[in-house]
Amino acid sequence: MQNEIRDVVIIGTGPAGYTAAIYTGRANLKPLVIEGHQPGGQLMITTDIENFPGFPEGIPGPELMGKMRQQAARFGVEFLYGSVTEADVSRSPFCLTLDDGREILARTLVVATGANAKWLGIESETRYRGRGVSACATCDGFFFRNSRVFVVGGGDTAMEEALYLTKFASEVVLIHRREEFRASKIMSLRAGKNPKISTILNVVVDEILGDGMKVTGIRLKNVKSGELTEQACDGVFMAIGHEPNAGLFRGQLDMDDYGYILTKGRSTETSVKGVFACGDVQDFTYRQAVTAVGTGCMAAVEAERFLESIR
Ligand code: NDP
Repeated sequence: MQNEIRDVVIIGTGPAGYTAAIYTGRANLKPLVIEGHQPGGQLMITTDIENFPGFPEGIPGPELMGKMRQQAARFGVEFLYGSVTEADVSRSPFCLTLDDGREILARTLVVATGANAKWLGIESETRYRGRGVSACATCDGFFFRNSRVFVVGGGDTAMEEALYLTKFASEVVLIHRREEFRASKIMSLRAGKNPKISTILNVVVDEILGDGMKVTGIRLKNVKSGELTEQACDGVFMAIGHEPNAGLFRGQLDMDDYGYILTKGRSTETSVKGVFACGDVQDFTYRQAVTAVGTGCMAAVEAERFLESIR
């Protein structure tokens, strides 16, 4: 494979990367997909996906990703297990270096490296992820009908998540580590006015409590007094921000203030011709599997057109 110039190299195997692979594979462009070390992206850590069209009964995240991979493989897509440690898009063909030292050359590059929700980093949070702990109300809120849930964070995402959760939960408790919310006034007011939402300020999560199977409560620590209190709840939603996985391209592709790759108009074109970005790495707003699939398709079509234009 070394020194062979590939027409299309796709980095990332979430819904965006797999969709770009299906389309470019079917267009006979023989794409190479660099899978990373945990193929499948964020959906591999979700339980049932109930809002992906075509699956009326819902489908587990890992199963959906397995099907997407299978579909891509059907069109002769080549998969490579490994991570990209360096990317050079200042020259053409673009050059990627893998963690085993191999170099890959590409005429077009589809960046589908996704984003990750930020987590607190405590052990109990990991233990109960998917069993009461979530970082996506749109994805998991439905499972918390008539429940008491906590939302951690003080930004616009936290307000939005809390408001969304009131559609299902009977009580939403917003907790924030400071006295003042970071969120915009309008969002804070909207949350403040909702009778289902209450707030606890100046606290951090000390521990998420559970019975081994699911979340049963939360232990909070007051940052001023150090006092620990326990509260019963069924779910804890982290809303402390997201991080796009775009570090490889910092300084090479135009990005917004949060590090999301900027794309031009209604396209997946980046600031470098021949490099296309799709899915959560460029989607600050929606961050849904369905929108990732849509932009994955756009990137594939645009890569194909770009290749035609340079031939
Ligand atoms: P932000 O970075 O704005 O807010 C993150 C929040 O989480 C902050 O309140 C922060 O506390 C808190 N936080 C961070 N780390 C921790 C931690 N380890 N423990 C406890 N709390 C923590 O992220 P958002 O995702 O809320 O928003 C990102 C951007 O997206 C913003 O510009 C926002 O306006 C925008 N947005 C807009 C929306 C809209 O307009 N509808 C909806 C959603 C997002 P602290 O304040 O103390 O730093």
